[in-house]
Amino acid sequence: MARIAYVNGRYVRRDMGVVSIDDRGYQFAEGVYEVIWVQKGNLVDLEHHLDRLGCSLESLNIPWPMGRPALKVVVGEVARRNLIGNGHVYIQATRGVARRTHLVPEDTPSSLVVTASREGFRDARVHEQGVAVITIPDIRWKRCDIKSIALLPNILGKQKASREKAFDAWQVNGHDIITEGTTTNAWIVAHSGEVITHPANRSILSGITRRVVMELAAGEGLDVCERPFTVAEACGAKEAFMTSTTNYVVPVVSIDGHKVGDGRPGPVTSGLYKRYLAHMAGEQEGEGE
Ligand code: PMP
Repeated sequence: MARIAYVNGRYVRRDMGVVSIDDRGYQFAEGVYEVIWVQKGNLVDLEHHLDRLGCSLESLNIPWPMGRPALKVVVGEVARRNLIGNGHVYIQATRGVARRTHLVPEDTPSSLVVTASREGFRDARVHEQGVAVITIPDIRWKRCDIKSIALLPNILGKQKASREKAFDAWQVNGHDIITEGTTTNAWIVAHSGEVITHPANRSILSGITRRVVMELAAGEGLDVCERPFTVAEACGAKEAFMTSTTNYVVPVVSIDGHKVGDGRPGPVTSGLYKRYLAHMAGEQEGEGE
């Protein structure tokens, strides 16, 4: 079956999808994106993702490529045409096509590409055994809250992690604070039981999974706190974990080779993972009603 992409107004075979070499996404990385998990054909937390897309677009002065209701139709249609049971939809909107110069004419229409990929559930071992992370300097710009397609520091970090047989790299700022992973938000559970993650300011991407997990944790009666934490605090924490749309809740059992807790996924992390799976399933039931 041919995979189908939506490219600037048309549904095309994915391998035939073409954008201009003058697209400013290609020339300047002037664009934003979203990744939305699809479970049993339903788009998980779609509205949150579209809200964040709107914030990212606004921050870069890129107009919506189409109205929000129309975009929802396109996203659903791309998932449907690719027969996505479980997997993800990818939305990329860029500033559009213009002569290559820094200043763009105000009336340039933005470009839109929507693709979808089937994906299995994450390897259960990741959640049962936990994963290792390394730390790296956070060399990114001061607007990490924008979900921009300019991802070079994240890519370099992920490559380094992979070479060192780690799952991800946690980025550390000049004050020894862990901001976030390269594709994930970072969390620790203190010995007091406090569940801690970096505040959603301009130093991190405000993850949708982060937001949902915060709500789930609070709903469980856990003490959730948005505050910075250091590498030393993370290494000495009771538990650590990370969150993202495509990885859900992943236990972190080692940081730079230091064992976290007893080196196994802890009960808070495992509990939140289960709650998050239920949340994804709940979305699905809710939408079917
Ligand atoms: N931080 C970064 C840098 C990311 O790239 C991602 C995933 N796109 C996240 C955090 C997690 O965000 P979400 O939960 O919305 O997938």
